[in-house]
Amino acid sequence: MKITNVEAFGLVAPLKEPWKIARVVMSEMNATVVKISTDTGIVGIGESLARLSSETTRSIIDNILKPILMGADPFDVEILWEQMFSTMRTRGHHKGFMIEAISGVDIALWDIMGKATNLPVYKLLGGKAREKIEVYASSLLFKGTDVLVKEALELVEEGYRGIKLKIGQGLKKDIENVRAIRNAIGQDINLMVDANSGFGAHSAIALGKELEQYHIFWLEEPVPPDDIHGYEKVTRAVNIPVAAGESEFTRYGFRDLITLGNVAIVQPDVARAGGISECKKIATLASVYNLPYCPHTGASGAVCVAASLHLSAAIPNFLLYEHMYPPNPLREDILKEPLPKVKDGYIEVSDKPGLGIELDEGKIAQYMSR
Ligand SMILES: [Mg+2]
Repeated sequence: MKITNVEAFGLVAPLKEPWKIARVVMSEMNATVVKISTDTGIVGIGESLARLSSETTRSIIDNILKPILMGADPFDVEILWEQMFSTMRTRGHHKGFMIEAISGVDIALWDIMGKATNLPVYKLLGGKAREKIEVYASSLLFKGTDVLVKEALELVEEGYRGIKLKIGQGLKKDIENVRAIRNAIGQDINLMVDANSGFGAHSAIALGKELEQYHIFWLEEPVPPDDIHGYEKVTRAVNIPVAAGESEFTRYGFRDLITLGNVAIVQPDVARAGGISECKKIATLASVYNLPYCPHTGASGAVCVAASLHLSAAIPNFLLYEHMYPPNPLREDILKEPLPKVKDGYIEVSDKPGLGIELDEGKIAQYMSR
């Protein structure tokens, strides 16, 4: 089998209600969708995470990755990954847009391999470690305390046994929100807090110590990803497991986050960290340190979600799946058939070949950014 074409499409969709989190207000969703065609007629779909300028990712795929891929066999995925990575590895592009672009290509190659063998991707990854994937609801955004409590109770009513709250509104407000939500939902629901890199280590420690009494399941991204020593300080000082990894890239980045940052839970995003091939390696690396894997899917499109579900089904040390519930057109509105739905706090993975999804070309055209 040979690759005959590689295309990438920058997508952008405005949000009816902007997402307010620490440091940023997101008023639109971006993603880059990748399509790889082969001489058998099989077409694979991938997605690169794009926080902004999905066109930049598209340009990297068109100009740097496509020449490597043309004429190659998609089953040579490991070799192709190394070739793509080595192109810019020594030029400082071992993080960021370059790896996000590789991620989208890698996901599409796995989709092709699944379709060519008539097997779902989780089967190619070694099989289903679980029939149902446990999810948590992500996330309660920056809103008034009363609104947050009401939303949290609705999520519990819907069957979620874990809820994540965005923090970073200031020590007093964060504590007030956590206290009110914990009192409302009781002790049996897991409550996670996510700072989106909004603190320095000293503030994160001060807040983390105050939050210990509310039985927090994890404290996510307390400090920026480049503050690896900050991670180490927070994990030593605060008696709450620290989770991180949505802003990290490749097994090399996760090696440092685990061994230097001392994090308790890893959260790679398959559309950013290097694709399915690399996330499988990151999961294995985490397993060496007996750490759980919880995929990040925030502000991602439907292809990333599908790929994340296959990884979640297959990875032995998987713990919980991040189900984003705030509306996102790039997740809900670009497929012919919608993604699996959450039922009683669990979600199932598709048994169809490859990722098990089909793009709605009309919708893709509608959201294209050029
Ligand atoms: Mg997060």
